[in-house]
Amino acid sequence: MIYLFCGLLSGAVLGAIGVPLFRKDDTLESAIIEETEWDLLQRKKEVILGNSQDLDFEYKCGKLSDQDYQKIRGEMSAEAAMVLQEIESIESSKDLDALIRREISARRGKSKGSAHTATCASCGATNPPSNKFCADCGAKIKH
Ligand SMILES: [Zn+2]
Repeated sequence: MIYLFCGLLSGAVLGAIGVPLFRKDDTLESAIIEETEWDLLQRKKEVILGNSQDLDFEYKCGKLSDQDYQKIRGEMSAEAAMVLQEIESIESSKDLDALIRREISARRGKSKGSAHTATCASCGATNPPSNKFCADCGAKIKH
C-alpha cells in the first residue's frame, strides 16, 4: 500500500519534471510505473477470453476432439475464475486504500488550521506549535 502510494507520488513528480523536456519518455515512464498487478490481471483475463474464443473456433472447425475441447475448456474456466477472483480482491482492497487516503488528506487539511500552528504576533510568520520563539524574527510566541 505504501509502496503503491510512493510509486504514484514519484510518478507524478517525474511527470511534472519530464513533461516539458521529454514528452515521449515521460509517457513511457508513467506507463511502466502505473502498471499494477490489477492491470496485469486484466490483460491475463483478456488473453484467457481470447484463447477460449480461439478454442471454440478451432472446435467448430473440427480441429479438436470432444475430449480435448472439454479438457482445455475446463482448464481455461478454472484459470479465468481464479483471475476474476484476484481482480475482485484487489478492487475491494483498492477501495479501502482510497478510503484511508481520503481520511489522511482530510486530517492534513485540518492540521493547516490555527489549532496546529502558532502564528507570530510580531511578524505574522507561521511556526510549528512546538516553537517557543519565532523562526523568522525570534519573538516569543504566545500559545
Ligand atoms: Zn516572527
